[in-house]
Amino acid sequence: MTAAAYAPRRDLVSKVRRRLTQHYAARPATLSFAQPVLSITFDDFPASAADAGARVLERHGACGTYYAASGMAGVEGPCGMGYTAGDIARLVQAGHEIGCHTSSHADCARQDIFSTLEDLARNRDALIGMGAPSPRAHAFPYGETSGELKNNLPPRFMSARGILPGLNVGRTDLTQLHAYPLFGAGAMRRVAAALKSAARRKAWVIGFTHDVSDTPSAWGTRSDDLDVLLHQAHQLGFVILPVTAALERRLA
Ligand SMILES: [Zn+2]
Repeated sequence: MTAAAYAPRRDLVSKVRRRLTQHYAARPATLSFAQPVLSITFDDFPASAADAGARVLERHGACGTYYAASGMAGVEGPCGMGYTAGDIARLVQAGHEIGCHTSSHADCARQDIFSTLEDLARNRDALIGMGAPSPRAHAFPYGETSGELKNNLPPRFMSARGILPGLNVGRTDLTQLHAYPLFGAGAMRRVAAALKSAARRKAWVIGFTHDVSDTPSAWGTRSDDLDVLLHQAHQLGFVILPVTAALERRLA
C-alpha cells in the first residue's frame, strides 16, 4: 500500500479487471458472530507499528495482525524504518498475529501466479526464520489481486485481506476480506460510523494502517486516534481480535 514510488495501474482495463476480481468469491462463506468484532491490522510493517501501535493495542488488552513483507524488514521506507526480527519475536510473545504480505511487496495483479506463489513461500520461510509461526492470514499489497490468485491461494491461509471498505458479515469472500483504512482525510470518522453499524449487525470490522506515531506518514495513524477507536469499540461491545482469531470465533 505504501511504496511512494509505485502505484497500481489505473487504466480502464485494469479498473474493469479489478471490479470483476472483487465480485468473484473464490472462497464464499456466510459469516456470523455472537458479538461485534474489530481487528486492527498493520501492513508491511514499519517498526513504529510494532512499538507505538502494539502499545496502544496492549493498553486495551488487545492484539493485532501484522502483515509482514520480509523484503521490507530493516529497510527505510515512506512509512519509516521497517520491522526487525526482534519486533517479530516480541509481537509473537505478546500474542499478536504475524500475517503474510508477500516478501517483495508485489502487485499481485501484475506478477505471474508462479512468481507470486514463490514470493509467498519465500516470505513464509523468512518469517519462520524470525521466530513467527507459518502465517495463516494474508493481505494483498496495494489490495491488488486476481481471480486466478484467489483460486490458487495456498490452503495454509485461512483468509486474505483486501483494501475495500465494508463489513465482513453474511455472505463474504474469505479471499478478499473488506477493510477500512485508518489513514487519510475523514478515515477515522468513516470507521467510527462503520463500528456503529457493525455493532447493530454483530459484524466484523477490519481496520488497516501502516506506521503509528504522533506524526504519522500519509499512510499511518496517530496513536491517540487509534486509542479513541479502540475505546469506542469497547464501549459498543466489540471484542478486539487478530484476524485469524476472529475467523475462529465465527458461528457459521
Ligand atoms: Zn503494503
